[in-house]
Amino acid sequence: MNDSPSNSGLDLDSDSNCIFCKIVKKEMQTKIIYENDDFIAFNDIKPVSPTHILVIPKKHYKNLFEANDKDMLGKLLLAVKEVATEKGLGEGFRTVINTGDNGGQTVHHIHAHVLGGRFHKWPPG
Ligand code: AMP
Ligand code: ZN
Repeated sequence: MNDSPSNSGLDLDSDSNCIFCKIVKKEMQTKIIYENDDFIAFNDIKPVSPTHILVIPKKHYKNLFEANDKDMLGKLLLAVKEVATEKGLGEGFRTVINTGDNGGQTVHHIHAHVLGGRFHKWPPG
């Protein structure tokens, strides 16, 4: 846990405690299905659609509130598009970035869900 004064308990997820950082550092066994210089993608462990992929930056950003890196945010969506193309999601797919508690974020390392392989109704739950 990072207990530096600037964190004041707000950011409890240091890189070393973050499961997605562990996947990036290959400290956790996960099949990487896409990789470029800045991002990796892997299958969600609890899929909610026939295709359910998570695209994450290799660098730790807690969430969309705290990520101000325009380059990374733009490249994240481009990586999503490449993953969707490689996975043959031409019939359409949904991209979701859950942010904060009310957004349903459970892993505090920014990630885009890529959901495909079925019709996704709107609004979501
Ligand atoms: P969110 O609720 O938006 O923070 O999404 C976190 C997602 O990470 C959930 O859909 C989890 O099923 C998924 N997840 C958690 N741990 C792992 C893991 N080790 N490998 C793959 N997916 C994971
Ligand atoms: Zn992380």
